[in-house]
Amino acid sequence: MHILVVEDDPSISEPLVAGLARHGFEPEAVATGAEALTAAPRADLVLLDLGLPDLDGTEVCRRIRELTSVPVIVVSARGDEVDRVVLLETGADDYVVKPFGLRELVARIRAVARRSAGPAAVGTEELVVGPLRVDLRAHRVEVDGTEVELTPKEFDLLAHLAGDPGAAHTRRDILEEVWDPNWYGSPKTLDVHVASLRRKLGHPEWIEAVRGVGFRLTVPT
Ligand code: CA
Repeated sequence: MHILVVEDDPSISEPLVAGLARHGFEPEAVATGAEALTAAPRADLVLLDLGLPDLDGTEVCRRIRELTSVPVIVVSARGDEVDRVVLLETGADDYVVKPFGLRELVARIRAVARRSAGPAAVGTEELVVGPLRVDLRAHRVEVDGTEVELTPKEFDLLAHLAGDPGAAHTRRDILEEVWDPNWYGSPKTLDVHVASLRRKLGHPEWIEAVRGVGFRLTVPT
């Protein structure tokens, strides 16, 4: 899924592009409204910052809508008067307010993409790692065909690890993406969820601790 990120601030667009790539999207960043209008027709979804240097964001949104039916999620800064009616009149499908977490954004991207794609896209969002199946749409997990009941946070943690199986995920990344970008709770929370996941998945080897780094998902041998 090719996502066009329209954002003039590299301190926002760079981590955003990296984060979206980690979630399996193909992001492309442009920094102006003019570039956005050129690139929008080949995108599957547009993430559009309203505060752009050359054109007013709502005008960009309106013009994209004239060019193509690509879904648009508008990003506005905190403190902006986000007038939902105006946004919807410009043709935006949804909006997020800065600062936002990557997890929230990904959930909205998936929801908007689902609505615009219709039933054809249903059922494709499944992560399969050996005998483990994680159905992101239905929030269902199976090991060897048997359903495993997880809490929402356990599910999010497993989905995060299963999104890049075998890779070491740092504690910091996990806390930021599964919990919140501004999460300052006890670091023990992560360990408690890991222990619980290992127990529910039926084998401690599913989630391997990577010393000094974090955790990785592996298929028990
Ligand atoms: Ca901006």
